[in-house]
Amino acid sequence: MANLIDGRAIAEKVYVDLRREIAELKTKGVTPGLAVVLVGDDPASRAYVRSKDKMCRELGLHSVKLELPGSTTQTELLRRVEELNADPSIHGILVQSPPPAHIDEAAIVRALDPRKDVDGFHPENVAKLVLDDPSGFVPCTPLGVQRLLIESKININGAHIVVLGRSMIVGKPLALLLMQKNTNANATVTVVHSRSRDLEEITRSADIIVAAIGRPGFVKADHVREGAVVIDVGINRVEDGAAERGYRLVGDVAFDEVSKKASAITPVPGGVGPMTIAMLMSNTVKAARQSL
Ligand code: NDP
Repeated sequence: MANLIDGRAIAEKVYVDLRREIAELKTKGVTPGLAVVLVGDDPASRAYVRSKDKMCRELGLHSVKLELPGSTTQTELLRRVEELNADPSIHGILVQSPPPAHIDEAAIVRALDPRKDVDGFHPENVAKLVLDDPSGFVPCTPLGVQRLLIESKININGAHIVVLGRSMIVGKPLALLLMQKNTNANATVTVVHSRSRDLEEITRSADIIVAAIGRPGFVKADHVREGAVVIDVGINRVEDGAAERGYRLVGDVAFDEVSKKASAITPVPGGVGPMTIAMLMSNTVKAARQSL
C-alpha cells in the first residue's frame, strides 16, 4: 500500500515558514498585499476567491477582494488592473480564471505588472521560468507539486517524471520547472497529452507520474510501474446522489487500484489542492520581499 502524501500537513509547514517571513517583513514596514479580481458570479470561482481571501487574513496579509459584475468591459477591467499595478500596498494581483467570454484574458494578463503577477502567467514570468531565472513567479500548482515532492523527500534529481497534460496552468510550466538545472529539479521530463501515442507504455516507465488532464480516474494500475510515485492534480466533479451536494470531487487517478501499486500517492481532495493556495501566499510574500 502506498504512503499517503498529505498536502494539508505540508501546506501547514509552508505556512509556519511564511508566518515567520511575514513577521520579518512587517518589522521593515511592509505588509504583503494580495488583490484578487473576480468578474462575474461563477460559483466555483467565487469559492476559490473566498478561500484565497480567508487564507490571506489568517496569515495577516493585506487582502483586497474586487468583485466586479459579469457585464464589466475589457476597458474597465484594464483600468482596475492599472490601479492595482500602481497601488503600493498591493504586491500580488490575480484575475480569477475563467473571466466571462467577452474578456480577452491574455490581454489582461499582459497588462499586469510582471512584478505583481503572482500567478506566473505573464509572458515575462514564463520567460524567466524557461531561463531558470529565480526572480520570476512560477504558477502556483506546479510550484506546489514540486514542493510536495521535496517535502516528502522524493528524489527528483535524475528521475524520469511523466507529466500528463500540457496546459499553460499546470502541465507545461511543471515540465519546465522540473527540468530546470538545480538540485530541486534536474528531472528527465516527458510530457504526454491527448495526441500522444503509446501513453500507457510511457507512463509505465516513469519514476514519478503527475496527472493533470481533468479526466476522472483516467490513470489506472496498468499505467503505473510498481513502486512509482503518483501525484494527482485533477479536481473533477462526478455526480453522486449520496453526497450532500449531489456530487463529489475525484482526481485524474483511480486511487483505489493505483494506491496498491504506487510507493506514494496524493489523495483528492487533500493533496495538491491545499498546496496551490499555499504557493499563492508564498508568491505574494516573495513579491513583497522583492519590492524592497
Ligand atoms: P486543461 O483542460 O487546460 O488541460 C488538460 C490537458 O490534458 C491537455 O493538455 C489535454 O491534451 C490533456 N488531456 C486531456 N484528455 C487527455 C487524455 N485522454 N489523454 C491524455 N491527455 C489528455 O486542464 P488544466 O491543466 O487546467 O487542469 C487539469 C486538471 O487539474 C483538472 O481536473 C483541473 O480541475 C485540475 N486543476 C487542479 C488544480 C489544483 O489546485 N489542484 C489547479 C489547476 C487545475 P491536449 O492539449 O492535447 O488537449
